[in-house]
Amino acid sequence: MNSRLAFGTLGLTLLLAACSNTPGEVPQAGTTPSGPVSATKPETRPATLIMPDGSRQAVTGFVRDGMLLLEDDIILADNVNALKGQGTYVVDTRYRWTNNTIPYTFASNVPQAVRDRVTQAASNIRTTTNVNVTPRSSQANYVQVVYNTGTTCSSSLGMVGGQQTLNLADRCSVGSIMHEFGHAMGLFHEQTRPDRDTYVEIQWQNIPADWQSQYEIRSGSKGYGTYDFDSIMHYPAYFDGKLAIKPLDSSIDINRMGQRNGYSSTDVGNINFMYPATTPTPGTTYTGSASQGASSYQPGTSGFSYAGGTLTGKLSGPSGTDFDLYLQKYNGSAWTDVATSESSTSSESINYTATSGTYRWEVYAYAGSGSYTLVETR
Ligand SMILES: [Zn+2]
Repeated sequence: MNSRLAFGTLGLTLLLAACSNTPGEVPQAGTTPSGPVSATKPETRPATLIMPDGSRQAVTGFVRDGMLLLEDDIILADNVNALKGQGTYVVDTRYRWTNNTIPYTFASNVPQAVRDRVTQAASNIRTTTNVNVTPRSSQANYVQVVYNTGTTCSSSLGMVGGQQTLNLADRCSVGSIMHEFGHAMGLFHEQTRPDRDTYVEIQWQNIPADWQSQYEIRSGSKGYGTYDFDSIMHYPAYFDGKLAIKPLDSSIDINRMGQRNGYSSTDVGNINFMYPATTPTPGTTYTGSASQGASSYQPGTSGFSYAGGTLTGKLSGPSGTDFDLYLQKYNGSAWTDVATSESSTSSESINYTATSGTYRWEVYAYAGSGSYTLVETR
């Protein structure tokens, strides 16, 4: 039977609204390897990276837009003014996103055109890798997309914990945004691989002294597969119009470096190595109870994030009652039914082919009250 009441979305909406504050960036002249170089000496801060192999590496961070950056676009700290002391700032690059899922939200000032490109980038990532970049429902760890009126496209490295920043300007393309999400997944720049000197020669004489630290090898990073000139994580060959990265193999077209069209096959391999496909888990059994005319939600009103695939639910309600089962999906502002099972008995079953997103089960006591079990498989 149907005819239940729709409720339970208000709390989540308020929670999302409370998270849409944005750090106060001050746009300034871009100082990127692919853009104009600032005439002034960049302000720097020392920091320490804990590398994927557990080793530590001292690095030089650049202060830009109130943030501390490594290389062109890796955010070491969202707010440089909050840092104290020198050489003590430590960034652990080893954290990976749980459940292969990167939830994101938008700061209120992000223009629609930029939002559309993020949505497209997220879709591209979901369809080509095991990583589920998806609008946040209520996850504790997530990416906040902020907007700058300058030229900065940047991201933190790996999962930081809590809210972390992905900073975008009008110039950031879908491919650039996929590059930044690559950093958020934990990818370094391809040309900082420990074995890079086997493949390229850095043209130090063409790189201003203040910027040479940004072409260091990240010795504790891990390079998977063969060196990839086509990686979306590779720098362009040129720094401020001068050749900075020269392939040792002269037959390689230097314009392959720095492509921002999409992930290469090696990029996909690296990403899926870090984020293996999740295997279906054995059935999860939820227990709960519902009173006549009321609903109960599993695994809770906030639901769960799902990368996509088959979802099944088998409900067993109290004998002699009429319990119904619904699968609901969160669309960013409200929950909607995507599958229903409304027989006039206490047993219901749903088998649904789900796209990625946030889901929850609703158990509705149409007639009668009591305890139920719900067995879910993902
Ligand atoms: Zn980058």
